[in-house]
Amino acid sequence: MPQTTPQIAIIGSGPAGYYTAEAAQKQWGQDVRIDIFDRMPVPYGLIRSGVAPDHQSVKGVSRRYETVSLSGHVRFIGHVAVGSDVSVEELLELYDAVVLATGAPGDRKLDLPGATLGNVFGSAALVGWYNGHPEFASLAPDLSGKHAVVIGNGNVALDVARILAKTQDEFTGSDIVGHALEALTASRLESVTILGRRGPHQIAMTPKELGELAHLERAVPHVDPAHLPPVEEDAALDPGLRKSVQLLRKYASETPEEGVGFPVNFAFYTAPRALVGDASGKVHAIEVERTTLVDGKAVGTGELRRLPADLVVSCIGYQTSPIAGVPYNEMRGRFANEEGRILPGLYCVGWARRGPSGTIGTNRPDGFAIVDRIAQDLAGAALTKPGGDGFDALVAERGLDVITFRDWQKIDAAEVARARSNAPREKIIDVDGMIGIAHT
Ligand code: NAP
Repeated sequence: MPQTTPQIAIIGSGPAGYYTAEAAQKQWGQDVRIDIFDRMPVPYGLIRSGVAPDHQSVKGVSRRYETVSLSGHVRFIGHVAVGSDVSVEELLELYDAVVLATGAPGDRKLDLPGATLGNVFGSAALVGWYNGHPEFASLAPDLSGKHAVVIGNGNVALDVARILAKTQDEFTGSDIVGHALEALTASRLESVTILGRRGPHQIAMTPKELGELAHLERAVPHVDPAHLPPVEEDAALDPGLRKSVQLLRKYASETPEEGVGFPVNFAFYTAPRALVGDASGKVHAIEVERTTLVDGKAVGTGELRRLPADLVVSCIGYQTSPIAGVPYNEMRGRFANEEGRILPGLYCVGWARRGPSGTIGTNRPDGFAIVDRIAQDLAGAALTKPGGDGFDALVAERGLDVITFRDWQKIDAAEVARARSNAPREKIIDVDGMIGIAHT
């Protein structure tokens, strides 16, 4: 029987996906059917696998997404990879609108000599490892060296530096996975250096995240006062950045005692140029060049030096994974789109639309904007697509092992039940394990 309500497929169950579903519910009320797909058997994308495990209050937003999932006309369809289990073309045949909310799960490539040496990781891999993402659970970073170097001056660099600097007790209440907690507890690291190719006025670190460093048990932020621009120049900064820079000024004014605590060194005007390995093929140093700012850009001065680096984590941004048949903007690392429209019936939202920027909350207006566009495009159109019923037929035909929201609730309960004391959950870190629980 032909449908009379819009049939919407949302690909990706992270913040952008769920805010889009919420917006569609506001737009059409009960008169819409929404299927939210995820390649993982578990929902919430970045909230589960990207947000730092010690930022539980941020992760609390998943309760809002749960409410959306539990409303009658929304389904979670996990463990279905769009692009391989089902193609975008097939989904476009089935649904009135297909919205790619697939985020930016891949690392921007660190294009340097030595980037493939051992113990050099992108942030997606390292963050995935301590957050229990099945793809990265077996990463096993070697933390037996003394010095870690984190490349980049954004919030992910801060997350990584903080996690490496924390003591075991400081993970109380977090959902860091057991294997990572064990490795970090046994870590022999003695310092982290955060490399910024530009200066303090060009950081992408927000005050709350930067301020956290001042309240850690053993981490001691080190900022070289010589790197700070004249204080009068702070007036021109936007208020958030000004606050961050004020924190850096405070850190610079507090001369840390030599040899005390765990230094978190901010190395500004320092661009990475090459990674240097030892005989075993593992990184042990990083060659850097002092830079100067020319028209806001970092320009090398020719002054090179080597910093010890037993572990290197590149936190230089993320990119969306391409999907067969979907136009892609290589330079921007996201789908080619005009205000979220890709092709007739095909849309993108969140990081898949605009690249990896903004906070979790930025995705909410994004979700509402894309639903507005879909509503404009569908106005007056005959809604004849089979939607979820058509997809269910395809599942039966292909024998896909689909995970429902009820299945996820079983996985969720199992993770909560096996949590160590003072932890909200112990994540299942392999897809087979998740599916096994879902099918009990
Ligand atoms: P980001 O904010 O874009 O920062 C990337 C950093 O990498 C920039 O400092 C950039 O420097 C540097 N970089 C890029 N290419 C480089 C290269 N080749 N060599 C050296 N440095 C390079 O990205 P992000 O830290 O991955 O964060 C992504 C988004 O998630 C952001 O919106 C962030 O705020 C958000 N996030 C938020 C939180 C939170 O609120 N707690 C936590 C994590 C992430 P230039 O500026 O010089 O290009």
